[in-house]
Amino acid sequence: MSTVVAIDGPAGAGKSTVARLVAERLDYSYINTGSLYRALAYAAKASGIAFDKVTPEFLSGCHLEFRGADLYLNGVKLDAELRQPECARGASIISAQSFVRDFLMPVQRNAAAGQWIVMEGRDIGTVVFPDAEKKFFVTASAEERARRRMAQGNEVAAGATFESILADIRSRDERDMNRAIAPLKQADDAVLIDTTGLSIAEVVDRITALC
Ligand code: C5P
Repeated sequence: MSTVVAIDGPAGAGKSTVARLVAERLDYSYINTGSLYRALAYAAKASGIAFDKVTPEFLSGCHLEFRGADLYLNGVKLDAELRQPECARGASIISAQSFVRDFLMPVQRNAAAGQWIVMEGRDIGTVVFPDAEKKFFVTASAEERARRRMAQGNEVAAGATFESILADIRSRDERDMNRAIAPLKQADDAVLIDTTGLSIAEVVDRITALC
């Protein structure tokens, strides 16, 4: 038995920060499921395999396991490497494959087993835990998300512009929302939280009050 708070939404809506803080406030465990798809992108890149050429055989050599909120790939903890833009792009390509989603389903369900947990992603409330106790769909306009990424500064330092970041956000949204399997969409019973113009604290307060 587990108690799941599902937080889904598009890239850059502030989900991760909010989900982590909500988990802390509720004293729940926290899992970021995007890191699983990013880890497979990282593994593919490290093996010189194109993101759209990943096979079930390749996946069978990737053992993914959460220890608390930390993700281990074949016994090695992954962290900063998962935040590279290349891993995000690769994750969005790899995640469109049904065998990849099937492969990651038990990893996500096992991570929640017996826990009180906040789990964030794209399809937690719709596919992974359709019976989650609470579901939230956290979003913001594409422009607002691009502004937030600009403010973080690291991509700007690497040469990105507002326009290039906005284009990246739009193409990732497009891929995530239009894939055939487990597309990004709000569950019928999820509470919509538009974070445009809201502070992180306001979003966290709103979600914890509803839990
Ligand atoms: O949340 P994050 O930006 O780390 O996710 C990276 C990519 O992984 C997303 O763009 C999406 O394609 C994929 N993803 C997914 N289902 C999830 C979490 C992430 O398809 N539950």
